[in-house]
Amino acid sequence: MRKPLIAGNWKMYKTRREARDVVNALLPLVANNKPVEIAICPPATALNDLADLVKGTNVALGAQNCHWEDEGAFTGELSPRMLKDAGCKYVIVGHSERRQFFGETDANINKKARALYRNQIIPIICVGETLAEREASRTAEVVTTQLKGCLAGLPAERFAESVIAYEPVWAIGTGKTATPEQAQEVHALIRKLIAEIFGPNVAEQVRIQYGGSVKPENATTLMTQPDIDGALVGGASLKADSFAAIVNFNT
Ligand code: PEP
Repeated sequence: MRKPLIAGNWKMYKTRREARDVVNALLPLVANNKPVEIAICPPATALNDLADLVKGTNVALGAQNCHWEDEGAFTGELSPRMLKDAGCKYVIVGHSERRQFFGETDANINKKARALYRNQIIPIICVGETLAEREASRTAEVVTTQLKGCLAGLPAERFAESVIAYEPVWAIGTGKTATPEQAQEVHALIRKLIAEIFGPNVAEQVRIQYGGSVKPENATTLMTQPDIDGALVGGASLKADSFAAIVNFNT
């Protein structure tokens, strides 16, 4: 049985104080939710504060990006080794905003995933098509190419613990959500591809999150689809009450 992972991607929002306020409000609202795994991916400046707050709770910490080396002359970057030290259990790689604005490629994402495994961190690997690609009926082709590039040569036993986030670019921050049927169709395709690459046992274990305008109102129908194992949530994770309502979709 896969345990759903619901992770909040805070992007470039919140000072340390604001981050602490949200987490202090969130913790009691989700404390009794055992069937769901919960993570917050704040800006790196807030990791240290939040690591203290979430210690001993059911909320884990994640980061939004990393470099693929453990250290080196890479001005402005953070390594998986540093993020492990800062208390991260997860790191998001290949988010569409990083692909679009910072030139992130499938080959980079592949190197980052290897570096995360080396540092005992679980990657959340993002894939998804643009609106133009969906309208041209290229969703399956685009997602397949991204996945094959991101996963090439990864060790099956480490990959089994990884998380894939299917995030249609046209649904991110737009208020337009994929219908449960649209999302399930792509999630099933992703699981089939994983089975082809790593075998059926790995495919059964890997969690595939949906991301793209997930809100309290649509969380239950999305997350009760057979191949949807939680969500990567942007805007609605910035407030404790809306994120808690998504996390508690099953109650
Ligand atoms: C995201 O940034 O990963 C995301 C899904 O954002 P939103 O929920 O705001 O669409």
